[in-house]
Amino acid sequence: MIKKVLEFQFDLIVVGAGSGGLAAAKRAASYGAKVAIIEVNKVGGTCVIRGCVPKKLMVYAAKNKKNMTSSEGYGLKSEGVSFESDILLKNVREEVSRLSDLHKNSLEKLNVSIFEGLGRFISQNELEIICPKTNKILKKISSKKILISVGGKPKKLNIPGIGLAWTSDDIFELDRFPESILIVGGGYIACEFASIFSNLGTEVTQLIRGERLLNGFDEDLSSCLEESRAFSGISIIPKKQLQSIESINGDLESTLDSGDKIQTKNILIATGREPNLLPLNLEFLNLKMDGAYLDVDELNQTSNENIFAVGDIINRPNLTPVAIEQGRIFSDNFFNEKKRKVNYEYIPKAVFTIPEISTVGLSEERAKEIYSEKNIKIFKCKFTPMSNTFKDYKSKCMLKIVVNKLTDKVLGCHMFGETSSEIIQMVSISLNAGITKKEFDITMALHPTISEEFVTMYG
Ligand code: NDP
Repeated sequence: MIKKVLEFQFDLIVVGAGSGGLAAAKRAASYGAKVAIIEVNKVGGTCVIRGCVPKKLMVYAAKNKKNMTSSEGYGLKSEGVSFESDILLKNVREEVSRLSDLHKNSLEKLNVSIFEGLGRFISQNELEIICPKTNKILKKISSKKILISVGGKPKKLNIPGIGLAWTSDDIFELDRFPESILIVGGGYIACEFASIFSNLGTEVTQLIRGERLLNGFDEDLSSCLEESRAFSGISIIPKKQLQSIESINGDLESTLDSGDKIQTKNILIATGREPNLLPLNLEFLNLKMDGAYLDVDELNQTSNENIFAVGDIINRPNLTPVAIEQGRIFSDNFFNEKKRKVNYEYIPKAVFTIPEISTVGLSEERAKEIYSEKNIKIFKCKFTPMSNTFKDYKSKCMLKIVVNKLTDKVLGCHMFGETSSEIIQMVSISLNAGITKKEFDITMALHPTISEEFVTMYG
């Protein structure tokens, strides 16, 4: 009997044109693979359309305003500085569209077929593309391999009136910034938007269910951020939870579990994100799950040999550079016969508050848990950076090194202060290379900078 060889239209279908999907599609196409990509929204995904990029542009607006209005000591008059949020929001949207078009053009140059619509599995090698408005099937396409890279969506609290609140997705669609806002959550998104809004004139209250901001980060970083909040006018309500929301005379009234009521113009819920897998119709494929995430091996292969997954739908650090690396390496391995693996060690992270928080490696608390307190040495300094000398705003910066006493190996570096993300990105190279504290010590300082303190902390 002659075995029938299945003919597929594509070598690879990528479902979701975000950071991971775009990286994989472009890399596979560059190796000559016939690639299709399906996207229901604008090309670009969370990072480009409703995440890192528009957020960072707003951070620049907030930083510029802060500098303009707090530098009179440098002889700079701040009279007449005003902020028109509609101009910022319009410009941000235009920039996002420009970047989305650039990605689309580069896909087209690489002959990647772009399908607009919602991708839904009908077999392990086949998807139908659905029009999200009419629910009509627009097309069916098949491929030998399918990469799922649909990303995440904001989690919403299950409480009465939740429909009245925004998620971070809504912020980028606004015409103007609100007069006042309650931000629920103490993680990345909540802290970043609290900084953006408060520095641009919105009255901000931040509600956190625990005792501190940014759980899981080195506790000194959280404390520095909390101290700096005193300068920015954000009021933090700890150890309380939102129970319900009501609209009263054009305001939103939040009732907390303590019975307290807070009135603000708007509410932002930033209580985490979750994989956006539901529209894919995956159930019949019985893919192995890892909680809410798709379970994958180190080659990003799911429990089905034809189906792969990258980005925020798998249980790895949900960060843009990680998704890009996963996407590229997937295509290197399966379309160019390379044998690469993603390096998940020493991933640098930043929270773009003002000032910003950056970190790589183990926090003091985690290092002590793993290696025992007696084997850990901490080097730390906290001071007013020279850039704040003549400013009204005197928040301090903090640098910290976590060292294994037995091996002298640097386990973690943490920094609170302006441009800390740029500094920690470079420090992460040395941690990946296995640097010891002695090597920090014999490195010459560059003066006068903030980061020179990383090489001058002896003890
Ligand atoms: P995070 O996981 O960072 O923070 C979630 C926050 O919500 C925590 O403070 C958590 O509290 C709180 N929370 C969770 N559930 C509830 C609840 N039921 N009631 C009250 N509070 C609750 O999520 P984000 O939404 O801020 O960000 C999502 C992800 O997006 C991040 O983890 C990160 O991967 C990515 N991201 C990265 C950025 C960057 O790199 N700069 C910027 C923005 C997002 P608790 O601490 O007590 O659990």
